[in-house]
Amino acid sequence: MTADIIDGKAFAATVRTEVARHVARLKSEHGITPGLAVVLVGEDPASQVYVRSKGKQTVEAGMESFETRFGTDIGEADLIAEVERLNADPAVHGILVQLPLPDHIDSDIVINTIDPAKDVDGFHISNVGLLGTGQKAMVPCTPLGSLMLLRDRLGKLEGLNAVVLGRSNIVGKPMFNLLLRDSCTVTVAHSKTRDLAAVCRSADILVAAVGRPQMVTREFVKPGATVIDVGINRIPAPEKGEGKTRIVGDCDFEDCASVAGAITPVPGGVGPMTIACLLANTLTACCRANGLPEPQGLTA
Ligand code: NDP
Repeated sequence: MTADIIDGKAFAATVRTEVARHVARLKSEHGITPGLAVVLVGEDPASQVYVRSKGKQTVEAGMESFETRFGTDIGEADLIAEVERLNADPAVHGILVQLPLPDHIDSDIVINTIDPAKDVDGFHISNVGLLGTGQKAMVPCTPLGSLMLLRDRLGKLEGLNAVVLGRSNIVGKPMFNLLLRDSCTVTVAHSKTRDLAAVCRSADILVAAVGRPQMVTREFVKPGATVIDVGINRIPAPEKGEGKTRIVGDCDFEDCASVAGAITPVPGGVGPMTIACLLANTLTACCRANGLPEPQGLTA
């Protein structure tokens, strides 16, 4: 292996410490405690793990954590009413509706009901538009965390060739906008891209967000490139016992690391940055709501 490993777990810990420091100051100097509300519908085990982890880390950062849980039988109107209640609650500065929602609920309608100023996931159409036009927005957490890792590793990103592999609304497209804003030359690749490996091999920065376990191999990686693996995929792990699984990224880690200059591992790369950025976004939303200066280095 030649690549340096980008330790997202350690970097996320420094982000959380920085958030906690600002939260403590907000409390002592202004008597304000940032609050994050998470709304969970249904019993999806992965979502439950995420929500528990978010609540724990919110409290550890000194913030208020609010949680509302509904069964899968909740109607769209009732869910919207809950979001509107949280919009009106001054103790709540950030609202996150855990996705996916059940099929009978239109996620877009629910997400677009969130007050854009409290939309700490950055999925509201207003925030999408603000980010796309280079204005001050709430930025989606996973791309924001990936950008922080890239800036920490590479400093100024200006002029670098970046390829974003994947064009989803929650990762690929906001990642494109963030890299473009940092003056990279950005290509977005997807399932219809021709000669995908060659396109990716042109990249100084390769961000893989395809949701295909270990699809990205050394043929996709330019020697010395910085690779950000966003993927979280569960695959069978018979070596750990019958029926056991393990988490892998969208990159074949060992193979890519033999060519890349630096790479994020999975787990321990982008994943921990996502929740750290959720806390950072909640802090930013709280500062904006109270007309206070935003903390430096915690927004895009
Ligand atoms: P989506 O399924 O929404 O999007 C996947 C994208 O990859 C699509 O644009 C699709 O192209 C493209 N794609 C799929 N197969 C191929 C292929 N064979 N060749 C080229 N492109 C392909 O996924 P998400 O963006 O939501 O998530 C991507 C990964 O990131 C997943 O593993 C997910 O678990 C992970 N993730 C991790 C987070 C974290 O906290 N670290 C947070 C969010 C996601 P097309 O549009 O043409 O279909």
